[in-house]
Amino acid sequence: MRISYFCPTNYKILADIIHLLPDNIANQIAAGEVIQRPSSAVKELLENAVDAGADEIKLIISDAGKSLVQVIDNGKGMSPIDAKMAFERHATSKIRNIDDLFTIKTMGFRGEALASIAAVAQVELKTKRPEDVSGTFIEVENSQVVAEEPIGMNSGTSIAMKNLFFNVPARRNFLKSNTTELKNIVEEFIRVSMAFPDKFFSLQSNGQEVFHLEKGTLKQRIVQILGNTYNAKLVSVLEHTDYLNIMGFVGKPETAKKTRGDQYIFVNNRFIKSSYLNHAIMNAFSELIPKDSFPMYALFIDLNPAQVDINVHPTKQEIKFEDEKIVYAFVQSAVKHALAQFSITPTLDFDLDPTIQHLDSVSKPTSAERNASVASSSLYQTFSQKNQAHFIERKSDLKHWKDFYESDTSAPKSVEESISVMHKEYTATFDLFQLNHQYIVVPNETGFMLVHQQHAHERVLYDQYALAVEGKPIATQQSLFPATIELTPADAILLTELLDDLQELGYQIESFGKHTFIIQGTPADVSQGNEKVTIEKILDQYKHFNMDLACSKREKLLRSLAMQNAVKVGVKLGQKEMQTLVAELLACSMPSATPGGKPTFMHFKKDELEKMFGK
Ligand code: ADP
Ligand code: MG
Repeated sequence: MRISYFCPTNYKILADIIHLLPDNIANQIAAGEVIQRPSSAVKELLENAVDAGADEIKLIISDAGKSLVQVIDNGKGMSPIDAKMAFERHATSKIRNIDDLFTIKTMGFRGEALASIAAVAQVELKTKRPEDVSGTFIEVENSQVVAEEPIGMNSGTSIAMKNLFFNVPARRNFLKSNTTELKNIVEEFIRVSMAFPDKFFSLQSNGQEVFHLEKGTLKQRIVQILGNTYNAKLVSVLEHTDYLNIMGFVGKPETAKKTRGDQYIFVNNRFIKSSYLNHAIMNAFSELIPKDSFPMYALFIDLNPAQVDINVHPTKQEIKFEDEKIVYAFVQSAVKHALAQFSITPTLDFDLDPTIQHLDSVSKPTSAERNASVASSSLYQTFSQKNQAHFIERKSDLKHWKDFYESDTSAPKSVEESISVMHKEYTATFDLFQLNHQYIVVPNETGFMLVHQQHAHERVLYDQYALAVEGKPIATQQSLFPATIELTPADAILLTELLDDLQELGYQIESFGKHTFIIQGTPADVSQGNEKVTIEKILDQYKHFNMDLACSKREKLLRSLAMQNAVKVGVKLGQKEMQTLVAELLACSMPSATPGGKPTFMHFKKDELEKMFGK
């Protein structure tokens, strides 16, 4: 037999290696990019419903979406021909040419979702346009239309995806447990429904309604989705600039959680993942929350679509900004600004009832230092006047509490002298008054100081306690009827460790048997009969600190005690009490913040106030 290099048979074998994949296989492979799991279909179908202009969108799933994902909407529907076209790859009504990509206003545009779904699941589509008498029913399997008939129905569209990956068992095996898949679905549902609070959304899983989101404001939607704990705990973020707009909410610092979650960034109403922008927001929160905790945020950034490339990822969750740095800086500044503003005017963004306003959580102000750093951002100059970021900028000269008196030209230079001048000035000249049972307004020649009564007292007490453990013990008042206190074994060990320091602080406590202690005496300000509760509260507070704080036992104890014993927000103070508190605060070595770093007062200067009023 003659063997030739040019042997036609050989040639044929080589040529046969390459062949075209049948459409349905090609589609199945391509579908892998868009539909990886039930939640991917949820996202695509919900987005299509939004694009169709629906304002009622229902999601129904069974078996964590593995056997059914169905979205029913009341949107504009499809013609019988479009209904079939919709399942073709690259079939879209949303763009016509490449330029359209840069003005895109819809969620979808790649024309891949329905084709992908039809390649890897059984699909039933029902759709009707308002102008048509009857609707269309279509069944698709392996990318082929297998049934088609007119039906009677209301306007809108229902798309049911059944038995995902029925024809791709290998991919089916990659699906996770129902719990995980359901979690993914809920996440996608939230991401879409949060962006459209003016639309009704519901989610039904295995016959049970899990979400029922009535139309409302963004704030209402956030609370509906993330829970009532955020009610009255949201700070509004709102900045308009020529380049971009930012709106939305961040959770107050105290709502920060130990686990990431509840964090949403939307660009032109599309949820995106951006560790870069997340960083910007975390930065804005940096001094307000513990290091390893995560604040809630739902922020909407709107900018000219030409400035973003959403086309970089098939699921459109990662996007590219034309100028990433600007967006970063804007986002960070907007959040800082919001946090700073809410603390100056706690009720600004809230329709709170007055009792809530007295809560500690509503009242935490920001620090002068923080305001100053906000202001140092040159970006504020570009914020529009209307949104008042410039207020903060003008406070940039307020870097320290000392500004309060140093602005006075005759002001002395040493801290002690200054404090005494301050002291004289307000005690001699002005009456103090209490605001909201929470702040003390301290007027002076150059403006006024707003003192947070609880924070201020915390600082004062802490300094007293620190002195006590360093050799100036606080006097003990002996109890007439010493109370016994029985603790859990763990608490007993804790208290035993603290007994010596507590003694210096005026608490005379003796161990009495296994987990029992006798309280022989307490500082004079603990009223008779309250000894036991006081000790229990101190232990509680201490344990709370124990988890979060890397500092000495003694330090923790001092801080717990100061927090525990400080006068609370909501307590009415007399003129004398206010005078004493402010005087004692100013006598502290670090009067401007609590030991935990929360500000104790803010200073408002006359000229700044006048500028705020446009003078
Ligand atoms: P894309 O959304 O990227 O255009 P899809 O594959 O998701 O691609 O959808 C293809 C087309 O089908 C859409 O462009 C739209 O015209 C139509 N369509 C899909 N879902 C709906 C719906 N719920 N209501 C009306 N039209 C729809
Ligand atoms: Mg789509």
